Amino acid sequence: MEAGGCLYQFRIALLGDAAVGKTSLLRRYVAGAPGAPQPEPEPEAEPPTVGVEFYSRALQLPAGPRVKLQLWDTAGHERYRCITRSFYRNVVGVLLVFDVTNRKSFEHIPDWHQEVMATRGPDKAIFLLVGHKSDLQSTRCVSAQEAEELATSLGMAFLETSAKNNCNVDLAFDTLADAIQQAL
Ligand code: GDP
Ligand code: MG
Repeated sequence: MEAGGCLYQFRIALLGDAAVGKTSLLRRYVAGAPGAPQPEPEPEAEPPTVGVEFYSRALQLPAGPRVKLQLWDTAGHERYRCITRSFYRNVVGVLLVFDVTNRKSFEHIPDWHQEVMATRGPDKAIFLLVGHKSDLQSTRCVSAQEAEELATSLGMAFLETSAKNNCNVDLAFDTLADAIQQAL
């Protein structure tokens, strides 16, 4: 499938509780693309996401092909789950995002994972666990070690990111895209 000079299009969703930083992470990534037209949004000025929003960014994978990432931002609120559910089937990659300062958001990760798995059945998606807001070390309440353990038990890799400090933002999307490509 040719897509704007790209050999592949990967549809990726960001899932996780409300306010963990999904929109900030996504916008930081998209705004970081060379020549990106999007202005850098002020993280504090972000309204809570309603429904689903779509972004895209092209990416050169180290293993060869140029791919276009279709990035879907979802609201974490329970009442919007019916919207997100309908596109789980077409998603090939998922960033499961929690906030390292929000214990509940970490505890809900297996629920988000299960929801995708239940919707897709045997058609496997590629996941990456993301501990976001890594700049907030003094108030963090989820350790890297327990997050690593959860990721291992769910069969995925783990990374910590910060949209505020622009830490590991590109790496998170690159890692997921690379894993998708290798699973093709
Ligand atoms: P979403 O509901 O998951 O999309 O979360 P948002 O992107 O709307 O962010 C929720 C709140 O977390 C906002 O007040 C953001 O400013 C804040 N936030 C997002 N990313 C970071 C980050 O990397 N570090 C810090 N300290 N705050 C962040
Ligand atoms: Mg949002």
